[in-house]
Amino acid sequence: MKVTRIESAVLAVPMVKPVALSFAEHRLVVATLHTDDGPTGLGYSLCFGGGGAEAVQVYLETRLKPLLLGEDPLFVERLWEKMYRADRGIKRQGVAAYALSALDIGLWDIVGKTAGLPLYKLWGAVTDRVDAYGSGGWGDYAIDDVVGEAQKYAAAGCRYYKMKIHDPDPRENRRRVEAVLKALGERVRLMVDANQKLDVLGAIRQAQALEDLDLVWLEEPVLADDVAGCAEVARAIRIPVATGENAYSRYEFRELIERGAARYLMPDVCRANGFSETLKIGRLAAAHQRLLSPHVVHELSLHVAAALPNAFLVEYMDWAPADLFTGLPHCEGGAFRVPDRPGHGIALAPDALARYRAR
Ligand SMILES: [Mg+2]
Repeated sequence: MKVTRIESAVLAVPMVKPVALSFAEHRLVVATLHTDDGPTGLGYSLCFGGGGAEAVQVYLETRLKPLLLGEDPLFVERLWEKMYRADRGIKRQGVAAYALSALDIGLWDIVGKTAGLPLYKLWGAVTDRVDAYGSGGWGDYAIDDVVGEAQKYAAAGCRYYKMKIHDPDPRENRRRVEAVLKALGERVRLMVDANQKLDVLGAIRQAQALEDLDLVWLEEPVLADDVAGCAEVARAIRIPVATGENAYSRYEFRELIERGAARYLMPDVCRANGFSETLKIGRLAAAHQRLLSPHVVHELSLHVAAALPNAFLVEYMDWAPADLFTGLPHCEGGAFRVPDRPGHGIALAPDALARYRAR
């Protein structure tokens, strides 16, 4: 089998409220991999708020696609090394890793379809059902928006909800968290996410203002580049730290682990060089008593979480319109049943390219 053709596109997907209060749209860089006598593979990367999607597509088209054409897509690890080791003089991660992720996900889709197995079973499944946490609560939401969103996820059975703590005043963040806790009652536990907005002292002060609320974790307290700072926060506060959505490789996660920067590790399959690397990060985490809680794109991350005994929840951010994909799993009783179709089980809806292609 050979890869004969790769088509890529940038899709612009408008957001609806409440997500639209913070983001007018998200963009997807979509890659469809065609083979000579085998199945087609779909991969994509999600660019939050649209940021950098055009650059990701250009990198994919000009630097990575030529490395895959004519190659056997079943040799995923070999092709991953070929892509990852390209351009060592100019790229490290970021845009290039988003592009590589989309192609790696497409290659695995072909492998699963060829084997006739869903990916989680191909990788050795531990479960066919993964609990999810509702996620959102952005800083631009009014309290009522946050509470309404949290209640919507709770009504879908989610026992966890994650909200942002973006106000510069730690007491205001506490007020918002308390309001959500009060509205949800004891059945739901909360996580909070600072999205890199704090420094070490600010994060410690914020955590002290929240530490009696039995939070599951405090996420990305400081700049993702600052592993030492994150570790200092983790040592100083009584809420477990989560981070990793902006880390791209096993090497970056090794540093997070060795420095004790986080208890929950959160690779994103669309950023951290695809399924191939995320699985390695998950195995590494298992050797160090770390839990893996994959970042967004739950429809893809489900397969990773269902194949790793140390996975803890997938992040359910309900942003995809119903006419974008076919095969999107539904949240029932706070969990997703992993799609049992061969590959990752997701396809673009028939006219999604025409409807959402960015202009
Ligand atoms: Mg986050």
